[in-house]
Amino acid sequence: MRLKGKVSLITGAGSGIGQATAECFAQEGASVVAVDIDATAVKTTQRAIQASGGKCQTLILDVSQENQVKDAISSAVKWFGRLDILHNNAGISLLKPITETTEADLDKLLGVNLKGVFFGCKHAITQMASQGGGVIINTASELGLVGQPLYSAYCATKGGVLALTRALAAEWAAENIRVNAICPGPVDTPMLDAEFAIGSNPKAEEKALISTIPARRLGRPEDIARVALFLATAEADFVHGAAIVADGGKTIL
Ligand code: NAD
Repeated sequence: MRLKGKVSLITGAGSGIGQATAECFAQEGASVVAVDIDATAVKTTQRAIQASGGKCQTLILDVSQENQVKDAISSAVKWFGRLDILHNNAGISLLKPITETTEADLDKLLGVNLKGVFFGCKHAITQMASQGGGVIINTASELGLVGQPLYSAYCATKGGVLALTRALAAEWAAENIRVNAICPGPVDTPMLDAEFAIGSNPKAEEKALISTIPARRLGRPEDIARVALFLATAEADFVHGAAIVADGGKTIL
């Protein structure tokens, strides 16, 4: 019960890493506000948490819309009295050469992956500063640190998340607000499945990717949830502005 009495809000909580984090935080005693654009998915997460005796409210929203994110933070405070932990995790990917990437593609990726994180930080920090502190965890990616063909727009958004994380960590550390990022490597989620499905042989794509990971497996959503848990607890009290890589060693090669 390392998060007993804490209030958390997790975006992208209907699937993959966000779902695993929501369930992990609830198991550790936190109240969870599970946020997603997909109503059915986030209700599934809520049912799983409630079935295990946890507390969970849901909100259906688009993180790229500032007013919706602002309202979500207000709702969390209305329901549970404060906001201790924000996990900005909702994200989308795109595999295209830059020569085929449209302005609309770029705007969509920037809206969800970067502006969504920016809005979450902005409105959570307003609340956290007023209550004496809090923790923000941003899901970036290994692709915020290294380049990969066909991921130029995605890499740009994730690099932006890392820069934003460092700037906010420096700005708010003295107010007892810790802002950190996680850089997952390939994690077995619907997002990665959709990327494999673009190729003509998804199984072969998966095998080829695994051969580039020293740990010789894909990450599991729970691997990333446990890193988020560490960052959320007082065990990470002196960790500010970090980009914690959890990638089975992929980026060390
Ligand atoms: P996923 O597709 O399984 O889950 C993402 C969730 O975000 C979905 O439930 C989706 O409905 C939600 N979402 C999408 N757009 C939204 C919006 N505008 N507003 C609110 N919710 C929205 O993906 P995942 O793999 O769990 O990815 C989670 C995060 O981890 C993303 O930021 C992703 O970029 C990052 N990441 C994933 C991997 C990987 O290999 N899976 C690797 C590195 C980083």
